[in-house]
Amino acid sequence: MPLKLIILDRDGVINFDSAQFIKSPAEWRPIPGSLEAIARLNQAGWRVVVATNQSGVGRGLFDMDMLNGIHNKMHRAAQAAGGRIDAVFYCPHTSEQHCDCRKPQPGMFRRIGACYNIDLAGVPAVGDSLRDLQAAAAVGAKPLLTLTGKGEKTRAEGNLPEGTLVFPDLAAVVAHLLDT
Ligand SMILES: [Mg+2]
Ligand SMILES: [Zn+2]
Repeated sequence: MPLKLIILDRDGVINFDSAQFIKSPAEWRPIPGSLEAIARLNQAGWRVVVATNQSGVGRGLFDMDMLNGIHNKMHRAAQAAGGRIDAVFYCPHTSEQHCDCRKPQPGMFRRIGACYNIDLAGVPAVGDSLRDLQAAAAVGAKPLLTLTGKGEKTRAEGNLPEGTLVFPDLAAVVAHLLDT
């Protein structure tokens, strides 16, 4: 059976986003139902991977130790809910650094595909920003927009990649994936 993999954005999908960035573990707060949704995916045999832009590192707002601390809190919270986040891929760069990993560039997605040795065609990729959906579409993954975080604004601004599906939140995405 092929590997069932799903790629999630972090801020605005798993946890509440902030215009001031999530700069510490204390500022990382899960969106209700998101961790339980991850656990449901795991129980159904899915591997859950996070791909997140973290330009706050490149801007000097927080360092790698702090980012690791935030992710440790996220991993522990997922485990407490009965779930597991397999891996976190992040881009620490600012847009001025012109890297290939900052979404909408597809570098993180390509790295995930290489790590798991799978073609990302049709792999669901969940995000609340247009750039998440564009990175997904660039590698043939299936773009799924949640209306949490910046999602309402993203939907209103339009120009979503062809075939984007829209859901209220991650729990609704998971209900859709497990029911179809
Ligand atoms: Mg986001
Ligand atoms: Zn980058």
